[in-house]
Amino acid sequence: MKVAVLGNGQLGTMLQQAGQRIGIDVHLLNTGAELLPPLDMPITAEREHWPVNRFTEALQRHPGWLNSAAFPVLSNRIRQKTLIDQLELPTAAWCAVSADTSLEALHQTLGPDIFLKRASGGYDGRGQQRLREGLISDFPTWADDAIAEQAIFFDTEVSIIGARSRDGQVVYYRLTENRHEDGVLTISLSQPSRFDAFQSKAEKMLRQVMQALDYVGVMAMECFIVDGQLLVNEIAPRVHNSGHWTQAGASICQFELHLRAVCGLPLPQPVQSGYGMMINLLGVPYDAIWLKHGAAQLHWYGKSLQPGRKMGHLNFYHPSAVQLSDWLVELEGLATFENSCKWAVSKLS
Ligand code: ATP
Ligand code: MG
Ligand code: MG
Repeated sequence: MKVAVLGNGQLGTMLQQAGQRIGIDVHLLNTGAELLPPLDMPITAEREHWPVNRFTEALQRHPGWLNSAAFPVLSNRIRQKTLIDQLELPTAAWCAVSADTSLEALHQTLGPDIFLKRASGGYDGRGQQRLREGLISDFPTWADDAIAEQAIFFDTEVSIIGARSRDGQVVYYRLTENRHEDGVLTISLSQPSRFDAFQSKAEKMLRQVMQALDYVGVMAMECFIVDGQLLVNEIAPRVHNSGHWTQAGASICQFELHLRAVCGLPLPQPVQSGYGMMINLLGVPYDAIWLKHGAAQLHWYGKSLQPGRKMGHLNFYHPSAVQLSDWLVELEGLATFENSCKWAVSKLS
């Protein structure tokens, strides 16, 4: 079996690795490629933003191209938030911003603390600016195509990752708790029963989106938990950083799940029993010290070093919270993720 994937970043590579294990040949397509995949090959994507060129345009007309209805909606925050409203899913109050929007009007509608987000192309907190009344008096240059949303003072952040098959069957992982620093995910923690009270609600919300878009494959929905309520932050039509822990903590990882859905293979509920955790290696060079920890599963992406860049991640899995907590205390000394370790220890106690 063969699948083509638009994008050749680490998510594509990990799809390739998962495919290799179960006998699916995954071809990564550079967005500037020349040659289209054969007409009978399913094509999916590991990203929702790509340059518009002859190749990416032709890909959208290819008979194997999946999710043609989902990408235009979810890759643009104005359209994504509009869909969320249409489906009546709870989300932070928001409005579209254009060249003639005034800062005063925004604060009047949304309050003193606002997140301005570029309509498209932003990730890892890039293309965002916090607007605090009285502190910021100018819009950034890109504000003519953006949304503004109310700042949410959340209790915590979670995400739900699920997959939908071609015939509409759906499966989900349990909610994962996520910690961000300056808009970038630093650590994800998946604990049995921690968010049981929210699980079925989150599944229903994600199912509504997948069904509305007739989506096939893995989709992720990031949410805030505030006052016992789930508020949708954003939705990604692809495998997601907050699902990397499934490589160690679930019988079927998100990458394999995506390929199964895309290829029409069986899509059983993945088995997850113990505690799964992922730590992002952000803006750090390769360090063999990570290999010293017997429990750490290192995934290194082999990219050139840039400040803050996602260079790799470490996965951990154990049936016991106490054991995971002990490991975290051992790991704390590795200065770059001390805060993440402390955060996870506090969540596990
Ligand atoms: P990703 O890499 O997940 O695609 P992104 O650049 O698309 O990130 P968001 O997910 O919109 O950005 O925001 C990044 C983080 O910023 C969130 O996870 C959250 O911690 C914080 N944030 C975003 N919007 C809000 C909000 N309205 N209120 C409070 N915090 C917010
Ligand atoms: Mg995003
Ligand atoms: Mg996000």
